[in-house]
Amino acid sequence: MSRLFNQMPTAELQALDAAHHMHPFTNDAALGAKGARVIARAKGSTLTDTDGVELLDAMAGLWCVNIGYGRDELARAAFAQMQELPYYNTFFQTTHPPVVALAKKLAELLPGPLNHLFFANGGSDANDTNIRLVRHYWALKGKPSKKTIISRVNAYHGSTMGAASLGGMAPMHAQGGLPIPDITHIAQPFWWAEGGDMTPDDFGIKAAQALEAEIERLGEDNVAAFIAEPVQGAGAVIVPPDSYWPEIQRICDAHEILLIADEVICGFGRTGSWFGSQTYSIRPDIMTIAKGLSSGYAPIGASVVSDAVAEVIDSADFNHGYTYSGHPVSCAVALENLRILEEEKIVDTVRDETGPYLSRRWKALADHPLVGEARISGLMAAIELTPDKQARAAFAAPAGTVGTICRDFCFENKLIMRHVRDSMIISPPLVITKDEIDSLIDRASRALDQTEARLKAEGLMTPA
Ligand SMILES: *Cc1c(COP(=O)(O)O)cnc(C)c1O
Repeated sequence: MSRLFNQMPTAELQALDAAHHMHPFTNDAALGAKGARVIARAKGSTLTDTDGVELLDAMAGLWCVNIGYGRDELARAAFAQMQELPYYNTFFQTTHPPVVALAKKLAELLPGPLNHLFFANGGSDANDTNIRLVRHYWALKGKPSKKTIISRVNAYHGSTMGAASLGGMAPMHAQGGLPIPDITHIAQPFWWAEGGDMTPDDFGIKAAQALEAEIERLGEDNVAAFIAEPVQGAGAVIVPPDSYWPEIQRICDAHEILLIADEVICGFGRTGSWFGSQTYSIRPDIMTIAKGLSSGYAPIGASVVSDAVAEVIDSADFNHGYTYSGHPVSCAVALENLRILEEEKIVDTVRDETGPYLSRRWKALADHPLVGEARISGLMAAIELTPDKQARAAFAAPAGTVGTICRDFCFENKLIMRHVRDSMIISPPLVITKDEIDSLIDRASRALDQTEARLKAEGLMTPA
């Protein structure tokens, strides 16, 4: 069946897609009129569409294909596991070898006391688990009033009711009655847009201290946890000032609240360490993992908890679970992915070679007249497009107008780079080579030149 569709002309696939397939985060009517891009196959860091056009995937799919496309070992691991045991659940006092093996392997890789895993299908439902878990934890400790979870504006924690409520995305909150009760949001450490005249480090301290003010406003007896991504990903790769995380850690240590690090993007090498918490010296009580855990080859996520948290949760029933918690095929694929990451020293390569190389070339983009700031952590990076660098000005046109123009020029140059408002972001496969990085920068530079020309032609270079 799917083979038949592999032979189908692009226009026919697009018509059927428009007729029957509803896309995430998409205006389907507008997309249907234009036709979706149809990706047929991929290898390494390169995608091929149904017209045979090759695109450099500087987003690793959706921040997840860290070991690159086309690794037969993962396909073989899935095949072998499906033959042996395609499915069994982990409810009702049962387990199976792949979930045991993966939990043990992750406990070895994870920092500090993070030794216990509750599996999910991805990051959203792992974060839903976290909401119930932290509230249940405090109830078991005799402090049921500790329910509120503090998050940040412009955070992304997933798309379920709970995860989208944790997230700080206004367009998501605007639909479907979000956020759910007992979740609040403090400001983000986004110096470029919100730092004003402060130095980045002074601003980082100020942004962190918003957490302490919020704990005091709510009353410590009502706060369960603080959740944050080490580096905000979907928010536009917001690399916090150096001062930010040490101050957040101090505040979490000073108050009786749990710290949840959402490592769905930062985990598994993205920032040049196995976990973003290591890069930024964060000591979380709970961690969310997904995406890079299987390099996107199979859906899997997990909520990871410390020894101390597990001891409390394990003392009673936790009335929670997903049919596919610890799915054997996903576990087998994740294990094989971790084996490759380790044996091929992919994280070391990001830290010592490709990360520093991309950093040097990426930061040079800030010389372009349209680029106000270039920021990077490991292999995730952003540039801010601006009509006036000195003033760190936004464009007069509605946010996203310029970003969309630049994104479309990137496609024309066979580069998948995403825009968030008027920031351009990348998160390439961790196996991207230096030659591919050169090509990424060449294509991005060309797209920037074309964007600048277009903005001038259309009178869009005006600051807000
Ligand atoms: C993608 C993402 C999620 C949601 O994960 P899904 O697998 O899409 O449910 C959660 N947190 C962060 C930081 C993410 O980037």
